[in-house]
Amino acid sequence: MFAEILLSKSTSKTDRVYHYSIPDNLKDKIKVGHQVLVPFGFRKDIGYVVGFAEQADVKKVKDIIEITSDQAFFDEKAVELAKWMADYYCSFFIKALRMVMPPGTKGKESNKRKAAAKRAFKQSQNETPLATATALPGLKPTQEQNNALKVIKSSLDDDKPDKILLYGVTGSGKTEVYMQAIAHVLEQGKSAIVLVPEISLTPQLIQRFEERFQDLTASLHSHMTIKQRSDEWRRVASGEAKIVLGARSAVFAPVKNLGLIVIDEEYETSYKQEQSPRYHAREVAFQLAKLHNAVVVLGSATPSIETFYHAEKGDYKKLTLSQRIDNRPLPPVEIIDMRKHKHSLLSEKLREELEQTLSRGEQAILFINRRGFFTFVMCRECGFTIECPHCSIALTYHTSDKRIRCNRCGYSATPSSSCPRCNSVAVTYFGIGTQRIEDEIAKSFPKARVLRYDKDSVGKRGSHEKFFTAISQGEADILIGTQMVAKGLDVGNVTLVGIVAADTALHIPEFRSTEHTFQLLTQVAGRTGRHNLPGKVIIQTFSPDHYAIKAAAEHDYKTFYQREIKERQEVGYPPFAQLVSLVISGEEGRKAMKLAEDIGNFLKKRLPNGVLGPALATIQKLRGQWRFRVLLKGQDLDQLRKAVAETLSNIVVPTDVRVIVDVAPMGML
Ligand code: ADP
Ligand code: ZN
Ligand code: ZN
Repeated sequence: MFAEILLSKSTSKTDRVYHYSIPDNLKDKIKVGHQVLVPFGFRKDIGYVVGFAEQADVKKVKDIIEITSDQAFFDEKAVELAKWMADYYCSFFIKALRMVMPPGTKGKESNKRKAAAKRAFKQSQNETPLATATALPGLKPTQEQNNALKVIKSSLDDDKPDKILLYGVTGSGKTEVYMQAIAHVLEQGKSAIVLVPEISLTPQLIQRFEERFQDLTASLHSHMTIKQRSDEWRRVASGEAKIVLGARSAVFAPVKNLGLIVIDEEYETSYKQEQSPRYHAREVAFQLAKLHNAVVVLGSATPSIETFYHAEKGDYKKLTLSQRIDNRPLPPVEIIDMRKHKHSLLSEKLREELEQTLSRGEQAILFINRRGFFTFVMCRECGFTIECPHCSIALTYHTSDKRIRCNRCGYSATPSSSCPRCNSVAVTYFGIGTQRIEDEIAKSFPKARVLRYDKDSVGKRGSHEKFFTAISQGEADILIGTQMVAKGLDVGNVTLVGIVAADTALHIPEFRSTEHTFQLLTQVAGRTGRHNLPGKVIIQTFSPDHYAIKAAAEHDYKTFYQREIKERQEVGYPPFAQLVSLVISGEEGRKAMKLAEDIGNFLKKRLPNGVLGPALATIQKLRGQWRFRVLLKGQDLDQLRKAVAETLSNIVVPTDVRVIVDVAPMGML
């Protein structure tokens, strides 16, 4: 018997399984998932056991030196998942495998390599006896919740992989349905994973689960230290915790006996990892469900166009919650045409409503869509915008230190008072940043207690929680924020939502920008009127007639979907075609372009009608690298992937040029 080992330091040449023989003293200890020290060439290297084989693929097989972990880091099914992921997303096997390993494993490898020779292997499986799992009783489900639960439970009882869309307006009780479905999963002696977008993984939500399920829950998110995360990981691996609540990567948590995966707001871009392996948690969840006979529930008021399409077609079961709890009405939405208010950030209507809200002692949220719209420095004479010298995107102005900054690479500078192109002094700060709003509010409402909530102010660990506590305990009157406020916040006293500039994201040149605008507006609008007090929403926009904005104002997903799916069909975008994006980048533009052309030509021979480009990417330059894109489009993703793999194995990539393959990309800037 031989062990199949994947080396920790794989390169494109060594990213494959190697066979090693197992010395007698390790024979009855070694397991899939163990970290081992092995000889490789003239060195010793750390590797991972990913399987066993009767035959070795080479004649001269070397011995494993020793086992360097006291327990297995992953099991056979996790290996299978990683293998699928490496294949599907054209990534290194080792990179995919790292996703299923406990947090912090990689950092410890080099120490292990050094210390390994001295230490003996010690067995400590550390299995906690499984507690009998119970949940506190839930709320009495409504008729609609009950119908949804019946279907989900019967799927769970079937013990077969299944996909379900829970399509329910904001505040219709989806989270309650998740929790009661999980209670059923616990009764079956199984476990569940609940994925939420990073930004909605609020203390409020975690608390709701902890109240219901006590210490059976574990949470995993980026506001935790590696130590905290690996402690939680261990609680899951030992079976002590049976419900994992987390962002994207929690889909890899080592739960025992998986029964259910819930993905809340599955359309969120944060479910896609933007570095290798470039996986989407929804696709991984489907694969995981196949391996474990588990059920996947996707829940949203605004499902992605692809998901709703599959549900309409019957690929997924579709369950609907059409009413808010207690039939609370969805808040009325008023659209304000800002073309008539060019010189002010806040329309009179919004000011009035703010005043009234404050005088009633209630709270308001002002929302700014940060993506694609920031405070940039523009010359009013010639239209010149100051861009980052390394990234070719507009620099944003920060009033706190009066510097202009690149959101991508961190470059910063002091803005000059005259235009670098035409020398005019008519340089203006254009755009709507959270800070500018804050300044304007401070002027108009000097007595209001204002809280700003965005990336800059939530950088630090713990401040995330402080914000939610402050707003939910009424310590602030007005909350100003970006995407981060769109989710999860459930505060009864919030009765006004003002969307300061609704259309800014519409103009991002990407095929999902309309969909994202609609989803965002609907979600933000859903932050109000959730409890006893009625809510109200004001949408300020320069495009009052756009269908995404109109439909959002009507809370009308269906109409939006019907229009958008037609657009997708006409231009042949997902779900009507599959996409693979290749970005070829390098400091020397010419060299990168040459490679992009070679790759494009090679691909065109294999996919005569499916290659777009190469062309300069929308963001032409990023961190000093010129970027070119080749986009593949086709019905059969497998075919596209194969063409890519074949191309890359036939083309020599110069050392200073990079090729990134993104299968089923979310963004293409
Ligand atoms: P969603 O996840 O769809 O936004 P939630 O599950 O958060 O909705 O429910 C919205 C509010 O209604 C919450 O405060 C929740 O506690 C309450 N709620 C949910 N289901 C019920 C029910 N069956 N009876 C009473 N209140 C409920
Ligand atoms: Zn100028
Ligand atoms: Zn930059």
